[in-house]
Amino acid sequence: MSEAVGACRACEGRCCTAYTVPLTGDDVWRIVQGQRLAPIAFVQRDPESTPTTTGFLLRPGGATYGIALRHQPGRRNEWPCIFLMHLRDGVQRCGIYAHRPLACQTYPMRLQPTGVAPRDDMLCPPGSWAGIAQHPGAWHERLLQQDRQWQRYAVVVQAWNTAVRRCPPSGGFVLDQYLAYLVAAYDTLNPPDDQPADPAHDSLDALAEAWCRSR
Ligand code: SF4
Ligand code: SF4
Repeated sequence: MSEAVGACRACEGRCCTAYTVPLTGDDVWRIVQGQRLAPIAFVQRDPESTPTTTGFLLRPGGATYGIALRHQPGRRNEWPCIFLMHLRDGVQRCGIYAHRPLACQTYPMRLQPTGVAPRDDMLCPPGSWAGIAQHPGAWHERLLQQDRQWQRYAVVVQAWNTAVRRCPPSGGFVLDQYLAYLVAAYDTLNPPDDQPADPAHDSLDALAEAWCRSR
């Protein structure tokens, strides 16, 4: 669900019931900060069929996982996002609009060599977003920001995976422990405007290893 204007205002929020929304660590951190929620309340783990640079381990040599928003119980072949609110007269709204993940902020656009364009498989009503290529507005910067956040998340995940391989716990880690590391890592990466990054946690590798050893 994008801006609450134009195409989205005339749509019943199809994108919020059809997809599993992938998350970066920054998405998780922003929702935790903005909504005061424990990450385990809204994050699920999904095993990767092929390991990627953003796939995290819970035990050495084990499966790698991505993180995504949980769903509400499915109905009529729909899988509503856990944050989708169902209002009167069939109206649906995002319950965390200001803090929604970048995947939601950028849907249905993608970056192309020529600029910004809607995805070919978008669920938006036909004709939505006509003329967006000529007037990409904030979409372009948002898509670039999304790319940067995925690159940053890969660094955070690799620090964790290295630490898991070095100091594996006997029974492996659980998702809750990984999410606690994630929030701590982004606390360090995203300090309040008036505070420098914690010098003791300059290195993500050191943070991840200390975190793993303390479990
Ligand atoms: S499917 Fe498209 S038009 Fe409908 S809410 Fe999502 S982004 Fe907006
Ligand atoms: S976070 Fe909001 S915009 Fe994103 S899928 Fe959920 S309800 Fe829709």
